[in-house]
Amino acid sequence: MRTVIVTGGGTGIGREVAAQFAADGCAVVITGRRADVLRQAAAELGGAVRAIPLDGTDADQVAGLAREVGAVDVLVNNAGGNTNFDGAEPSSLAEVAEAWRRNLDSNLLTAVLMTTALLPAMPAGSSVITIGSIAADKGAGSYGAAKAAVASWNIDLARQAGVRGITANVVSPGYIADTEFFRDNLTDERRASLVEATMTKRAGRPADIAETVRFLASPGARQLTGQTVAVNGGEWASR
Ligand code: NDP
Repeated sequence: MRTVIVTGGGTGIGREVAAQFAADGCAVVITGRRADVLRQAAAELGGAVRAIPLDGTDADQVAGLAREVGAVDVLVNNAGGNTNFDGAEPSSLAEVAEAWRRNLDSNLLTAVLMTTALLPAMPAGSSVITIGSIAADKGAGSYGAAKAAVASWNIDLARQAGVRGITANVVSPGYIADTEFFRDNLTDERRASLVEATMTKRAGRPADIAETVRFLASPGARQLTGQTVAVNGGEWASR
């Protein structure tokens, strides 16, 4: 039975990723800071899903999880989000520094710490999948910069892990509805413009991302590594 860790697995994209791996018969561990949200999600997702509450920016807490779970076959670094949505506009240089550090901690450091802690216990054939963002390509201040850093870090990770038969990829979503990402701040106009910007003329769904993650962790994707896979309905095309 494969062991899968999904950070930020109590809500949104991470919760759907956890649900799909659980349905495949995997043992799934979900993490998140809000213990109540996490435990409720684990209870709803069934016996194969275990909640381990932690803050992924805290090295000691991440090291504790690594000791508790042992060998891991799939790590999904999904925790993150745009921390600027939760704070007021910075009004001093010190506040600008604090705001940038929050986004880098939330999106980059969470992935770096969890991967560094778990990689030694990942056998050949394992996968690390980190959730990036279309914001890395389009630009979105400290959030976009943090997600761009994630994609750059992933290239070096793939190089290190590849010689051990482990793949490392980024899945980069466009607009995904039905998550807590935008809090309650997304206006109908903004939502409509995000949908209009796609070629498919629909919002992305957590399942669109979860299916891609599942494929990247599958036996059919063992030569696919060091990549950023965009799932954005064509909002940002590549060649
Ligand atoms: P959600 O806000 O629903 O999910 C984010 C999850 O991450 C939450 O469960 C949150 O739980 C957890 N989390 C955040 N910070 C930490 C931390 N320090 N330690 C542990 N857990 C943490 O939004 P989404 O599902 O949309 O977001 C999932 C990922 O997808 C994020 O990385 C986001 O940046 C990315 N993304 C989302 C897009 C969208 O349109 N929805 C578009 C592009 C990328 P808790 O608060 O309890 O810790």
